[in-house]
Amino acid sequence: MAGFTYDLLVVGSGPAGQRAAIQAAKLNKRVALVERKAVVGGVCINTGTIPSKTLREAVLYLSGYRLHGLYGASYTVKQNITMEDLQFRTQHVVGHEVDVTRHQLLRNRVEVLAGTASFVDPHTIKVAEVDSHLTREVSADKVVLATGTEVTRDESIHFDGKRIVSSDDILGLQQLPRSLTVVGAGVIGLEYASIFAALGVRVTLVDKRHRLLPFVDAEVIDTLAYHLREARVTLRLGEEVSGMEQITDAFGDRVRIHLASGKQIISDAALYSVGRTGATGSLDLGAAGLSADDRGRLPVNEHYQTAVPHIYAVGDVIGFPSLASTSMEQGRLAACHAFGVPATSVPALFPYGIYSIPEISMVGRTEEELTEQGVPYEVGKAHYREIARGQIIGDSTGLLKLIFDLDSHALLGVHIIGEGASELVHIGQAVLAFGGPVEYFVNTVFNYPTLAECYKTAAFDGVNRLGQAPLESLSVPGAAA
Ligand SMILES: Cc1cc2nc3c(=O)[nH]c(=O)nc-3n(C[C@H](O)[C@H](O)[C@H](O)COP(=O)(O)OP(=O)(O)OC[C@H]3O[C@@H](n4cnc5c(N)ncnc54)[C@H](O)[C@@H]3O)c2cc1C
Repeated sequence: MAGFTYDLLVVGSGPAGQRAAIQAAKLNKRVALVERKAVVGGVCINTGTIPSKTLREAVLYLSGYRLHGLYGASYTVKQNITMEDLQFRTQHVVGHEVDVTRHQLLRNRVEVLAGTASFVDPHTIKVAEVDSHLTREVSADKVVLATGTEVTRDESIHFDGKRIVSSDDILGLQQLPRSLTVVGAGVIGLEYASIFAALGVRVTLVDKRHRLLPFVDAEVIDTLAYHLREARVTLRLGEEVSGMEQITDAFGDRVRIHLASGKQIISDAALYSVGRTGATGSLDLGAAGLSADDRGRLPVNEHYQTAVPHIYAVGDVIGFPSLASTSMEQGRLAACHAFGVPATSVPALFPYGIYSIPEISMVGRTEEELTEQGVPYEVGKAHYREIARGQIIGDSTGLLKLIFDLDSHALLGVHIIGEGASELVHIGQAVLAFGGPVEYFVNTVFNYPTLAECYKTAAFDGVNRLGQAPLESLSVPGAAA
């Protein structure tokens, strides 16, 4: 090991790479991290998770959206919201997160090497500086590839960053469009569609699939579709885009989207969001004896080792589930495995947070999955309107749904749509992880008034549906008893 420049070399400074580097540094290893962008943080901090979630908060605040249920749709904190208003908040948060990340790396003595990494051989990596012809070679005993993904681009579409944008550059729009077509109703497309709709932008959402987010509970998706339509979003599902062109008409510079069905959609701007491809193109994988699949992704085993055991791959570059949350954990686990440190994790039980408006979160299995697997179950539900906190915050449409095993009553899944869903889900996640029964919620005292009380109401609802001696339900108007 002494012959190598480093014990561990990490490629990529997104959440997966950061966590791998810091975990190894905590184990007293000599660690370097290579990043080709001028700033650390990856897609997560610079163009993806953090800016989109900050944009969402800025929109919810400035539009007064959360209080429309109480004060009416005309209530706003600011009229004529501009892209600058929104960018002000995103730039502030992104700048802070980049600084925190860089500081964490430095504090843990991780050497940050600026440049694009590529393999020379399985233990040697060339780092080519982006703005000069300078290159240097470094070697490492172990390597972690955390290079993430890039937007999948259709060569026939001219992305100009003004009228036709990807999720990487949508925040750079100079003006808030009056109308926006979102091509691709995956998580990212849906999030942006609902965020812009909350600002009053006329949004059309196109997807070739007939159902939104097939992995999410059908009832939750029905609620989401209801909210999208309320926000005047036009859903064009089961439709394929056959072309996109930039046009100038009486309303100015716009985009015309052609659908295979012959329909056309004209809007001020279009967001093309049909997926992402593993960022492995510049790594010269062949020099290390590796190859990526047709979507640029690297196959790994349960320890995140690639086909070459001392080279690990973590985060979005290995594909599903492609979340910042799981990427961090994979980075930590890979570093522990590389240096023989035992680490346990329950990655199978990770929650999903979908930051559409309204927010969705889930953990465990859906009704559809359980039916397919032949597992008998019962369901308990609580609507936010039944809970005092729901009334106080003005969210009368939120829903929390518990699914539990018919025989053992063990919790099997938690599905939530509404304010705070992505925080609330962790209560259910803990009970799921410990194999707890639905009665846990019946027998637990929650702070009052909180949204967490939905767990208790849903549990009462579910237990009472079993047809056994009914339990006294919360005596709130409208509660299922
Ligand atoms: C719009 C959007 C919203 C999202 N929202 C959420 C969310 O709410 N919650 C959530 O959990 N996840 C979310 N995600 C997903 C999340 O951003 C990713 O899962 C996460 O960033 C993956 O982390 P990573 O470390 O694998 O890669 P990345 O964050 O993509 O970082 C990879 C880094 O590697 C660098 N790199 C690549 N190749 C090289 C090379 N050859 N040499 C040197 N450096 C290289 C890149 O420049 C980049 O900085 C979102 C993604 C997008 C696009």
